[in-house]
Amino acid sequence: MVTKVPKTKKVGPTRGFGPRYGATVRKRYIKVITELKKPHKCPNCGFVRVKRESVGIWKCSKCSHTFAGGAYTPVTKLGIIARRAAKGLPVDEATKEAEKAEAETVESATEEETQ
Ligand SMILES: [Zn+2]
Repeated sequence: MVTKVPKTKKVGPTRGFGPRYGATVRKRYIKVITELKKPHKCPNCGFVRVKRESVGIWKCSKCSHTFAGGAYTPVTKLGIIARRAAKGLPVDEATKEAEKAEAETVESATEEETQ
């Protein structure tokens, strides 16, 4: 008699990928896509309703405020630096701040491998 073994169902953005593209690439993909899909804070009204309209275009569903941002996140490290540079402010400080924020981002992208 064959006993039924419950199959482990893979979840997450890379569930359709199977074993393809390598673990590192899949983990990076998860990190980027989860950041892309979660709602972001609107710089205009403050509500967490900003979603990506297209690559680099972000729109708030609350106040319809549309603005340009990063390809996968509304605010990028380079964007902060660029904004400071445009204002004529020192860039070094912004770089430090961005690096600090980057370090705080916990790497939680893990996928269960059943092979
Ligand atoms: Zn808004």
